[in-house]
Amino acid sequence: MDLTPPSSIGLVGGGLAAFWAAQTLRAQGYDGRLLLVTDEPHAPYDRPPLSKEVLLGTRESARTELLGPELVAELDLELVLGDRVTDLDVDSGRLTLESGIRVPVDRVLLATGGRARALRVPGADLPGVTVLRTREDAERLRTLLVAGGPVVVLGGGFIGLEVAAAARALGCEVTVVEAADRLLARAVPATAGEQVARAHRASGIRVELGLGVATIAGDDRVREVVLTDGRRIAASCVVVGIGMTPADELARAAGLEVGDGVLTDAGQTTSNPHVLAAGDVACSPDPWHGGRVRVEQWQSAQVQGVAAAHTMLGLAPPAPPVAWFWSDQGEVRLQVAGVPARGRDVVRRGGDGDSCTLHLDAGRVVGAVSLNRPRDLRGAMLLIESGAVVDPALFADESVDLRRTARATSPSGRR
Ligand SMILES: Cc1cc2nc3c(=O)[nH]c(=O)nc-3n(C[C@H](O)[C@H](O)[C@H](O)COP(=O)(O)OP(=O)(O)OC[C@H]3O[C@@H](n4cnc5c(N)ncnc54)[C@H](O)[C@@H]3O)c2cc1C
Repeated sequence: MDLTPPSSIGLVGGGLAAFWAAQTLRAQGYDGRLLLVTDEPHAPYDRPPLSKEVLLGTRESARTELLGPELVAELDLELVLGDRVTDLDVDSGRLTLESGIRVPVDRVLLATGGRARALRVPGADLPGVTVLRTREDAERLRTLLVAGGPVVVLGGGFIGLEVAAAARALGCEVTVVEAADRLLARAVPATAGEQVARAHRASGIRVELGLGVATIAGDDRVREVVLTDGRRIAASCVVVGIGMTPADELARAAGLEVGDGVLTDAGQTTSNPHVLAAGDVACSPDPWHGGRVRVEQWQSAQVQGVAAAHTMLGLAPPAPPVAWFWSDQGEVRLQVAGVPARGRDVVRRGGDGDSCTLHLDAGRVVGAVSLNRPRDLRGAMLLIESGAVVDPALFADESVDLRRTARATSPSGRR
């Protein structure tokens, strides 16, 4: 492959990152061949509703589609469904598909996402034990939940807690088992994790912390979960939500640099200048803590897909927006913006079920965590973006509208 402007681009994987890359390539004027290969039987679709509306039955899984036939035609996209890229030859610039098709490409985007991490204990393969990553997983899980439980969720991370909340809303008896001593340990400050735990317990979910799973027991299907302290919990459905592993095997086989995912620079280029990676599979520079980080969030997959498209066309990627993610867990809408861990001082607004904490460093807001306070979160994001120094006492005052404060302090007076 040479580095002249591309006339043929291959997008490997049909998730959010590839979807945004395809849209951006065309929006930026790319008029060459554009191929998207996904091993799923569906065109790119959105995963967040799978653990929320699809489980609750308020949205059909088919309604998560991102890329309908009209948009495929508009983008002049060659969409290959249900086939897998099995080889990436970086020297000759060729993709080989499981079906035997070989496609020459000038640039490749690896947007292969990841797979739900499997639980390695006896009984983990019993019918009724499932993960949640795909549309099919969500449909299968909904059938299990509608049958009534009891449900045991292994893992107190975002997906596990969203499933637990949906199962509870459907009337199931639910137990969440988390090995760490608190929920959401990797993602939010301790106080927010504790608030979330209280909210779930108040809704009737049992939350067991600091415990693992010894075995899953059953006969023709799962019957109970045996915890590491010997207790047995009845289960007709066990949901394994213990994280994901990046689908980086193509990159490894192609000799690209791989760590926790495919290593890239800030423009999403891998160790080979013709190959880029974006989304859950990419491990990209961490502007705040140095080194690289692999992020498993919707906004990051979108931003990196857009950035990769720019880089492929020799354009500078847009400046990244303030990082943000959300998780809807029954009555709890959790939102996190910026990097709360960078804050030295914390100011809190609101009470237990409804709060927003602002995390400040030298008077500047650098992160925020909101439980059911989306308006405050939006204000906090503007404050993070503006970088203005504001008196923390102002934030503690409930009558102060954060968005107005942000507008007033923004150097450009924007918004
Ligand atoms: C159930 C669920 C709920 C979520 N909820 C939220 C939320 O509320 N908020 C939030 O911020 N984030 C959420 N996320 C995370 C967010 O959806 C992901 O970060 C995002 O989907 C990642 O997109 P991606 O394109 O990198 O990867 P993926 O969406 O995983 O797409 C990768 C695709 O590539 C395919 N593929 C892999 N290897 C090959 C190959 N060799 N050849 C062809 N195809 C291949 C895969 O099958 C898959 O279709 C959720 C994720 C899940 C699973």
